[in-house]
Amino acid sequence: MKMNDPKSLRDRIAGHVRDIPRSGIRDFFDIVSTRDDVISLGVGEPDFITPWHIREAAIKALEQGVTSYTSNLGLLALRKEISGYVQKITGVSYNPETEILIAVGVSEAMDLAVRALVEPGDEVLYHEPCYVSYSPVVIFAHGVPVKVETTAENGFKPTIAQLEAKVTKKTKLLMLNFPTNPTGAVLSQKEVEEISAFAIKHDLIVLTDEIYGELTYDQPHASFISVPGMKERTVYLHGFSKAWAMTGFRMGFSCAPPELTEAMMKIHQYTMLCAPVLSQKAAIEALRDPERDIAEMRDSYCVRRNYMHHAFQEMGVECHLPGGAFYMFPSIEKFGLSSYDFAMKLLEEENVAVVPGTAFGACGQGSVRCCYATALDDIKEAMTRIARFVSKL
Ligand code: PLP
Repeated sequence: MKMNDPKSLRDRIAGHVRDIPRSGIRDFFDIVSTRDDVISLGVGEPDFITPWHIREAAIKALEQGVTSYTSNLGLLALRKEISGYVQKITGVSYNPETEILIAVGVSEAMDLAVRALVEPGDEVLYHEPCYVSYSPVVIFAHGVPVKVETTAENGFKPTIAQLEAKVTKKTKLLMLNFPTNPTGAVLSQKEVEEISAFAIKHDLIVLTDEIYGELTYDQPHASFISVPGMKERTVYLHGFSKAWAMTGFRMGFSCAPPELTEAMMKIHQYTMLCAPVLSQKAAIEALRDPERDIAEMRDSYCVRRNYMHHAFQEMGVECHLPGGAFYMFPSIEKFGLSSYDFAMKLLEEENVAVVPGTAFGACGQGSVRCCYATALDDIKEAMTRIARFVSKL
């Protein structure tokens, strides 16, 4: 074996990394990017530009020469703002000195939490279909991801019976994401309490990714940390990418007990050092009057959700009404095509991009994800094209 032999190099890549497939979303969008005039319902990203006063805060900071590292945990001023905001939306207070860490997006915060907790062989329960990184992040930490498959019949929520069937003595962590990417599932207060009781009964640590918490349309968001007995065992993850339309700023944070925050901070310190200071300055501004920025975008997503849902009903495509986030997960099972073939054919014939449901786990087979964080006119045209497409199948 020689180093310059590509086959030999491939063999030397750590097996648990080599064997993980690339994200199905990226693969699909590599194909989409080769085509012109595609209407994309694909990427899970707001079509809004970050509100001006937030961009301006970053520009001003740059003009003032704010270009240095920050504390590993992030600017204290930002952690204080976050503490106040989380208290306001969940009623739970976190110490900005010891319990809040600013990370490079929820993505990094999630990785830190999993690496800080999971030892080889520890089992991690999570619900599928889910955001693409849940299972890989556990595997990177040498943990064992254990999925609970959710279905439209159950509103894409795991039942307690399903969770009970999968929990073992080796289960350390329960990963949750409500509102859910890719299904838009939301939990009621009662359901949050029931899942919390399950976690407490089995003494599990909970990682709750509530990045879409502001984006619910029919009922207020219920947070796991608000349930008595949960703060002590929960890592709460949130960030600015979605509700504030700040994906490119790469700003996320965790709220967790001091011992856990300290452990996460050590990994962050030695790998990332700190989150970018200009983004932190922008995030401080984003928390000055969040409701004003978010309300307008949320109202607009709600109109688009209703339009898209109605259009699927009109064309006879079964679709669970999503209560949050900005995704719809219609069933295309009756057309007899795999999710991937449906998405490819739709792209080829009508130039509309949707994501095959299998990008979010094998149980996404039979569905596709349509993101409605896209201009209403584009959604209207896309739905006309999808209706024409399915009428021929
Ligand atoms: N968690 C969920 C459920 C997501 O949908 C996404 C992005 O799509 C992320 C985390 C990543 O967010 P961030 O941009 O903060 O890294």
